[in-house]
Amino acid sequence: MRNYEDYEVIRLAKELVAIESTNVGKFEKEIGNFIAEWLERETGLPVIKDEFAPERFNVVCVLPGKVEDPAFVSMHHMDVVPAGTGWETDPFQATIVGNKMYGRGTADMKSGLAVAMITFRDMVKLAQSGKEPKRSLVFIATGDEEGDAMMGAMKALESGYVTGNSFVLDHEPTNNNIYVAHKGKTWFKITAIGASAHGSFPWVGVDAISGMAEIVRNIRNRVNELPCEDESFGRSSVCFGTINGGLNTNMVAESCTVTLDMRFPPNLTNEDTIKLVEEACADACKVVEGLKTSIEVVAQRPCVKQDNSSVLLAKLQEIIEEVTGKRAETPVFTGYTDTGVVAAETGNINSMSYGIVGDKYHEANEWVDLDSVLRLYEISRKIQEEMVFNFE
Ligand SMILES: [Zn+2]
Repeated sequence: MRNYEDYEVIRLAKELVAIESTNVGKFEKEIGNFIAEWLERETGLPVIKDEFAPERFNVVCVLPGKVEDPAFVSMHHMDVVPAGTGWETDPFQATIVGNKMYGRGTADMKSGLAVAMITFRDMVKLAQSGKEPKRSLVFIATGDEEGDAMMGAMKALESGYVTGNSFVLDHEPTNNNIYVAHKGKTWFKITAIGASAHGSFPWVGVDAISGMAEIVRNIRNRVNELPCEDESFGRSSVCFGTINGGLNTNMVAESCTVTLDMRFPPNLTNEDTIKLVEEACADACKVVEGLKTSIEVVAQRPCVKQDNSSVLLAKLQEIIEEVTGKRAETPVFTGYTDTGVVAAETGNINSMSYGIVGDKYHEANEWVDLDSVLRLYEISRKIQEEMVFNFE
């Protein structure tokens, strides 16, 4: 059995877990400062703190190469979701049992972040030893990946550290898969507006809650009927995440609000989902007389399809197979990551995730397989050496 504490990358992952960076909660300031100091000390390169909100910033460090764009961009988020309850170990004190390490962020994604930091340092050392980088290597530790707006990734795009041409890789927990395709999503906040009345003569009011019941049913039925032309993406889905409305049992509710999360395959667009919700609301207004509705689109991202002409995908497949002896699958990812945002916002076909094996992210007792961390470190170095120093 390996003594995992002998490995620098695992010791660093443990240190990162011990710096609480919950979103919502303590956010990224402390861990961002730690990473910035580490990069300065280990590489001697200038480090930029690129602010996207007050006291919240991405940490950026660039190893300049012969070609600036496309650069190779190593992009990893610093924030984690809150701990929640049900832990058997301290979520902010990584605990190693056998070949697993437990703690919030061990899988999503502080082990991947530690791999990225050390790989970046190794590449800088390689350049300093005389090997010329053919393209720039950009390290970005982002914030707010776990937030609704993914402000860190959006800021990195806005600041130009990552572009539609960049080769972009993150080490999210992917369980030996490569995630390059993403389902689209639209998030809504819908309010049904009625009119209050006494509960004993409700017919003089307009019941916003029964109006919302119609809206929910209409949306659910419409989503269930949506066609799916690409089986690999699976069907469209809707989740009604929250509902609020009414003041008292004996009063007709004058308003009711629902938030919902819709996901869809590539034969649909965000506009299609907005139209679907508008029609569902209009139909409800025909059934509940006097009902009014308001629709707010809270977040939207298009679908991202896999492009088999992607150079990064081909090289990554090759190296993964060389190291693990197995070819990585490329299933559709139902969620979104920073690299997914880059792909969606710019149409970049060389933006993807490949990382460790682990489980229970966003739950209690999150863990990472430490052998997969060591394997990832080997793959990370190989792909960066190939893309930054060898490939023209
Ligand atoms: Zn993540």
